[in-house]
Amino acid sequence: MATTLLHPGLEDVLQNILQAVEEAGREASSVRLIAVSKTHDAERIEPIIGAGQRLFGENRVQEATGKWPDLRERHPDVELHLIGPLQSNKVKDAIALFDVIHSVDRPKIAKALAQEMARSGRKPRLLVQVNTGEEAQKAGVLPGDAAGFVEQCQEEFGLEIEGLMCIPPIDEESSLHFALLAKIAGGLGLKELSMGMSADYETAIQFGATYVRIGTAIFGERGK
Ligand SMILES: *Cc1c(COP(=O)(O)O)cnc(C)c1O
Repeated sequence: MATTLLHPGLEDVLQNILQAVEEAGREASSVRLIAVSKTHDAERIEPIIGAGQRLFGENRVQEATGKWPDLRERHPDVELHLIGPLQSNKVKDAIALFDVIHSVDRPKIAKALAQEMARSGRKPRLLVQVNTGEEAQKAGVLPGDAAGFVEQCQEEFGLEIEGLMCIPPIDEESSLHFALLAKIAGGLGLKELSMGMSADYETAIQFGATYVRIGTAIFGERGK
């Protein structure tokens, strides 16, 4: 009964990741795949869990709160990652549900996270999002502010920051942004790099990604 059923989209992506890891001369275990399940319901997610995938990413706290508690009850070993922007009024729900939060990006949120972590006793792992393209509409600290903000998180709020995350601008060469993120993380001694999506994860792996966040290449196109 516990046989693992193959899922073609997932198998392809895992194969490509292995190849990219090998070409980069890295250890296979140094890159972890986050299957981005936003907009997909439990019926679409179950087969991916059935195929052995355990890390999942969602970009909205509210959507995740609706569908994941049941799924997690059936699959307690799933690890859930918040990869979308976080509002202060959602911090409590986010901490209750997520194991890793990739989108810490301002003092107000850092402070709210610290307070709620102390109150609840739950301690999700944290990454800081960097707006490498300096896009007005995008979340994240500016590259020039990243070091100061990470330090503030650590010293003022007592938060442990494990790494950095970025979403490169749609119309630019991703590799420039991956290189920038890796450089900033290296300078700060941070080990996790959350970068690379369906269109560019092999490149991200070349540049040192430790988490790749992949939706479309696994699940197919999202509706709308
Ligand atoms: C949707 C999303 C992804 C996955 O994008 P795909 O192109 O479907 O792989 C990755 N990261 C973030 C932050 C997202 O919102």
